[in-house]
Formats: sequence, structure tokens, C-alpha cells
Amino acid sequence: MSYQYRCDQCRTTSPPLATRTGIGLERDRHRDRFHGGHIPDGERILEPEPWRLAHIPPRQLLAGSIMLAVFVIAMVIRTLTL
Ligand SMILES: [Zn+2]
Repeated sequence: MSYQYRCDQCRTTSPPLATRTGIGLERDRHRDRFHGGHIPDGERILEPEPWRLAHIPPRQLLAGSIMLAVFVIAMVIRTLTL
């Protein structure tokens, strides 16, 4: 997960950073350096889209589901045979 700072006034986007704290510091540095500490119109923090099951390619989803089913069946068989 990474965040980016976007300033529409300057038409610039920061490199991606891993934390909200880091992107907050980047935003503050940009405000101080290019806008005299003022808040530029149109600035925003770009956040990654939340993860969804639909993001997994269908073949990987099918393979993962089969592996999970095999694992669960193996655990049930092992439990019943002990
Ligand atoms: Zn700016």
C-alpha cells in the first residue's frame, strides 16, 4: 500500500510513500517550499484502491480455491483418522 501527494497548482505528484505519516511530511515540505506554508487549492492525498477479491485474476482465484479445498479436505481426513 502506498500513498502519493498531488498538488494541482504545481501539476506535480510525489513519489509513492508507504505510510500516511510519510506522505503528511511530504505534503508539509511541499507546502513550505513552494507555497510559503499555505494550503494550495486542489491538493490531495492519493490512496490506493482498497483490495477486493475481484482483483485476483480468475485463474489464480481458481487455483487458490482448489489448493484451499485440498488443504481443508486433507485436514478433515487427518483429523478423522487420528
Ligand atoms: Zn504545489
